Amino acid sequence: MSERLLVQRVGWLCGLVSAMAGRIVAEHWNSPDLDVLAAGLGADGRGLPAKGWMALRRLDWAATVPEGVYVNDRVRRCSQEEAARALRLAVHRRQILTAIVTTWPQGARRDDADWRALRALLPPGVSAAQIANRTRQVHAYRHSHHGELPHDLADLETAPAVAAQVLLAAADRQLTTITRHDGQAVLRVQLPLTAQPRGRADWAWHVLPVALPPTVAADAKICAPTLRISGHRVRVDLPHRVTVTATKPSGHRLALGLDWGVNTLMTGVAGRLTDQGRVVTDGRMLRYDATAISAKLHRLRGHREHLAARRDHHAALAAGLPATDPRTPRLHALAERARVEHERVCARIRHLNKTLAWSAARWAVDHATALHATVIYIEDLSTLQARGTRKGNARLSGQVRGVVFEAIHHLAAKTGITVVTVPARGTSKYCPRCGNGSTELAHTPAPDRSDQRGWKWAGCPRCGLSTDRDHAAAMRITARGLLAQNHVRTDRKTGRHTTTTTVEGNVATVRRPKPCPAKQPAAGRGPKSTPTPKRPPAPASKLSHRVPDRRTAPAPPSGGQRPAGQEPKNHHPRAAASGPAHELLNPRHHPTGFHHVHATPVTALSGDFGPGTTRPRPDRNV
Ligand SMILES: [Zn+2]
Repeated sequence: MSERLLVQRVGWLCGLVSAMAGRIVAEHWNSPDLDVLAAGLGADGRGLPAKGWMALRRLDWAATVPEGVYVNDRVRRCSQEEAARALRLAVHRRQILTAIVTTWPQGARRDDADWRALRALLPPGVSAAQIANRTRQVHAYRHSHHGELPHDLADLETAPAVAAQVLLAAADRQLTTITRHDGQAVLRVQLPLTAQPRGRADWAWHVLPVALPPTVAADAKICAPTLRISGHRVRVDLPHRVTVTATKPSGHRLALGLDWGVNTLMTGVAGRLTDQGRVVTDGRMLRYDATAISAKLHRLRGHREHLAARRDHHAALAAGLPATDPRTPRLHALAERARVEHERVCARIRHLNKTLAWSAARWAVDHATALHATVIYIEDLSTLQARGTRKGNARLSGQVRGVVFEAIHHLAAKTGITVVTVPARGTSKYCPRCGNGSTELAHTPAPDRSDQRGWKWAGCPRCGLSTDRDHAAAMRITARGLLAQNHVRTDRKTGRHTTTTTVEGNVATVRRPKPCPAKQPAAGRGPKSTPTPKRPPAPASKLSHRVPDRRTAPAPPSGGQRPAGQEPKNHHPRAAASGPAHELLNPRHHPTGFHHVHATPVTALSGDFGPGTTRPRPDRNV
């Protein structure tokens, strides 16, 4: 059958389900019914089932089929599932609203006591942005209702629109089956043959082959999908399940610590816990610098606002004219064009955010894998809200960080790497080298401008450490994670690990062991050459195993800029073909998927450094 016909039939099914679901939501959009659902008890006093459609059946909240239309009972189930999800989401929003209204401050702003009271009432996992949005909504309601507070969610919002989609997970083999066959998923589903099916004869089985992308593992179990229409095409949201082993919260020696930057998206540090219980790092700063992409996002956001303003302006002008006015069609056309462009820019921003976030997460997990690290320590986003006050084009939205956070969890779980969040408070305030949690760093714009206050650079007045601000923070995050392994709480429901206590300790920088020198050709073979005269050995006092802590100038940019007129030495095509060495020098070869992201390339340098490593140290007497 043609794609157009298929789109039409899937569209009819989506329309039937969403109309029935919308009706259920509208019928029960009131305080008593939401109370019943929130209590989670059926009429017989038993707890409601977790599955949404079963819960609604227990409550006798039936789906009403439109007059004269015949649908399978499984279609009813799908609509009840859809409605149950919308109503349960409303119950959650209502809890937040109740907490905010109950603790509404007497003054203009919440003081510390108000915040504590509010936090005590809120359900777990509510973000600062959610609180801010609900508070703004209540403010708007009070403004239009003479200072009165809303009683319930139904006062603030009308019943929400239900998405036109079919959650086939609620159905069974009477409506749909899905099997896997030769790299394809084969979806069988009953679709209506008309918009208003009158009987069983108006429904027919359809077989839809769905090509599986290479990201779906061969042993993955595919589950019932969700069907929807998007842009004149049928979309199949196909969940799949792979088995991952549960990660252990403690007992880690090698870690990757990650700091959220403001203009760089992430800065990482490799850390090792020695037998003596100290944390050492090899001094490398791993960074994912997305400054160019965030500037692009900033431009796009500005363009989006401009288009929205133009669309509204033309629409307002057209509304002010009589319908017979000759200028009206032209204004409508202009408003329509702005609307279409606005939607395209919105889609572009969404897509860029998502791609950037997944690319950064992939980069972080690749680095952890290359280091043979067993754990990634990352700042807790919920404790991060107060930081990064910088505005302007360098700023990445918190939404991107949220997606990166989830993506790191996802990708790390697949590779068996643990992810543990650590408290973010004060990570860039104190010195990682002193490590006592009390020596404050001086923040300056650059290492040679130590008399000015700034953001980018951190210097320690006590031990003389001078490094990038994010690098210092990443070191402290690594130390906090590795030293507090006995204080990790694991959420029983999600399996996520959180460090509950802040344990401070210093981070020492150690050299990596040098690779063993290549063997000299034996005497007598090869061309004769005059032997190089032996250099006198350097005085012992000048040899140091420590890496210099102090830099007098910022490190050169990792790529993109070079002095005018100088070609990079490795630009020769033969050098480009030589592989790893070239990749090391040219950051553009790291496959981030972006031309303008400067990300530290993933190298084969393992976490084998510092005291007590397994690799033999080179004999210094040779
Ligand atoms: Zn210090």
